[in-house]
Amino acid sequence: MTDRFLHGRRALVTGATSGIGLAVAETLAATGAQVQINGLGTAAGIEAALAAVRAAGAAEAVHHPADLRDPAAIRAMMMAAGELDILVNNAGVQFTAPLSGMSDERWDQILAINLSACFHTMKAALPGMAERGFGRVINIASVHGLVASVAKAPYVAAKHGLVGLSKVAALEYAAAGTRSSGGVTVNCLCPGWVETTLIEPQIAARAAQAGGDREAGIRALLAEKQPSGRMARPAEIAALVLFLCRAEAHNLTGTALPVDGGWTAQ
Ligand code: NAD
Repeated sequence: MTDRFLHGRRALVTGATSGIGLAVAETLAATGAQVQINGLGTAAGIEAALAAVRAAGAAEAVHHPADLRDPAAIRAMMMAAGELDILVNNAGVQFTAPLSGMSDERWDQILAINLSACFHTMKAALPGMAERGFGRVINIASVHGLVASVAKAPYVAAKHGLVGLSKVAALEYAAAGTRSSGGVTVNCLCPGWVETTLIEPQIAARAAQAGGDREAGIRALLAEKQPSGRMARPAEIAALVLFLCRAEAHNLTGTALPVDGGWTAQ
């Protein structure tokens, strides 16, 4: 039987219409949490994500359509979401181009979604978590919050910023709550390559170099940076999110945890 240790906890996962966010939402739902999701997509795609989260165990799951580029929309979403015990800032976008060729619009968009949105959601959620003595903020950063790669200036800047922002929040809320209430923690997860649509353009570029062989493209991508030679699955990132939600993780705060097959150990 599944351990329903999050029964009664209220969670919001941003960017949960696909990939890592959807896996996180399903995992939280399976453990008893009341899950709300955010994310873009077609009506059918959003309905499919909601259906998956409901089937996983969160019968009352709702979707917030907020475009996270818009601070006013984020504030409205946070008002509508109400009291939260768990906030997973997962929404993110990626675009590769050399710094000199990166458009101003791309810079603004990537910073807004991958960094500023997390500031706005945390600002809204953390005071209530502190009052109630329990809160978990889990920010899906990236290995690119710890190290750089070429052609990813806004992404790397945003993810490094998210790691810094999370450390400040962790310190400001470190003393909230007690061991029995579970405390308030703020952490980043820093995945290397994870099998989602986000990295498809990069796989396609490597596959094209390998005569259209997708598997060869994936192998080439991994060989560059990720010593394990294995991509992570979204559910594996979700498993770590779940651990951070446990009471025994009350002293695990202010960290940026790599899940990168050894990428940042080099
Ligand atoms: P994905 O493309 O499957 O999911 C991204 C989610 O963000 C989607 O639900 C999308 O609708 C949402 N989103 C995008 N723009 C939005 C906006 N303006 N407003 C609201 N929602 C928006 O990608 P993923 O790989 O699951 O990415 C999830 C997170 O994991 C991102 O923050 C990404 O940077 C991070 N990450 C991914 C990898 C990887 O290899 N896939 C590695 C490290 C970190």
